[in-house]
Amino acid sequence: MTTVEVPHGSRSAVLRVSAVINETADACSLVFDVPEDLRDRFTYQPGQFLTLRIPSELTGSVARCYSLASSPYTDDRPKVTVKRTADGYASNWVCDNVKAGDELEVLPPSGAFTPKDLDEDLLLFAAGSGITPVMSILKSALARGGGKVVLFYANRDAESVIFASELRELGDKHPQRLVVVHWLETLQGLPSVEALAAVSAPYTEYRAFMCGPKAFMDRVHDALAQLGVPRNRTHAEVFNSLSGDPFSADDPVEISEEEAADAATVEVELDGEVHNLRWPRRQTLVDIMLAKGLDVPYSCQEGECGSCACTVLEGKVEMDNSEILDPEDIEAGYILGCQSHPVTDHLKIQF
Ligand SMILES: Cc1cc2nc3c(=O)[nH]c(=O)nc-3n(C[C@H](O)[C@H](O)[C@H](O)COP(=O)(O)OP(=O)(O)OC[C@H]3O[C@@H](n4cnc5c(N)ncnc54)[C@H](O)[C@@H]3O)c2cc1C
Repeated sequence: MTTVEVPHGSRSAVLRVSAVINETADACSLVFDVPEDLRDRFTYQPGQFLTLRIPSELTGSVARCYSLASSPYTDDRPKVTVKRTADGYASNWVCDNVKAGDELEVLPPSGAFTPKDLDEDLLLFAAGSGITPVMSILKSALARGGGKVVLFYANRDAESVIFASELRELGDKHPQRLVVVHWLETLQGLPSVEALAAVSAPYTEYRAFMCGPKAFMDRVHDALAQLGVPRNRTHAEVFNSLSGDPFSADDPVEISEEEAADAATVEVELDGEVHNLRWPRRQTLVDIMLAKGLDVPYSCQEGECGSCACTVLEGKVEMDNSEILDPEDIEAGYILGCQSHPVTDHLKIQF
């Protein structure tokens, strides 16, 4: 049995796994118990993820993000779904080892892959394990919103379709609102840009959310671009493995008097409130917001999870690592707060 004595970091909590569900031959879900005193910290938006600390004899631990597949509106407990990655460490460890009653150390929900308005019509794309955040969005929109929902869902074969029966039940319950298009690669090959565009053509006014391997999302982006869907109406979640340890808080960066004098200024809008901050150039936007006690969304602090994505409205930043952003995202002003340093003397940024 896996137990955790004390959380390793100040931001994390120890949660008990109340159930393990075998979803398919290579995917399992972990359902967590959230005790009363942690309810507020573990409140989540559809599409957000948890970060789990996975023990390792080799390195002590690794941190991995797993999207919540449950809906905050229809499920009592948060659930993540983990699909085995060939030769992967953490995903196989979870599927091989975690049992009901075990404890895991978890960082609170994070991420910006979440619809602002559940009433909007949604065009969802998922491939393989990419269904997890999409499922949370789909269930939440059907339960709380009033719009239509179209899901294009690609898998290797019928046996590897995660949540197949739940999707069937939702389709029966919402025949006027939900359309699910399954795509099986063993029968149809990889979905081409043309096929994705043909499926999407009637829904170009919908807001698009996509999650899956990079090659899949590139094709979805191309299909939507062909149809003229504006980039600011498409949202993508990139799945990758963290290499650092977001569980141990970094020591604050020491700022010299000279650096403080040369600091830029930034007007940051967060949750509709504007904050005026000084921004020493060696610090990141997330660093200065945390130092001011602001509730900035962030998780990995490595530029890999996308939680701290925000938009530059005025001024210029440079980023240490911006690999998860597409050139179009960067063109549209998106930056990662945890990787950004000011270039101009004054900036305006919106979360
Ligand atoms: C925002 C976000 C959401 C995500 N949501 C999901 C989701 O819902 N479902 C899902 O399945 N995936 C999800 N992922 C992907 C997930 O976080 C992992 O990337 C995925 O499970 C693969 O991890 P892995 O460790 O199995 O594989 P890899 O990362 O490929 O494993 C290999 C790595 O582990 C290291 N390693 C090998 N052996 C050991 C060892 N003994 N000890 C320590 N390190 C070792 C290797 O050096 C190598 O770096 C998400 C990712 C992100 C960023």
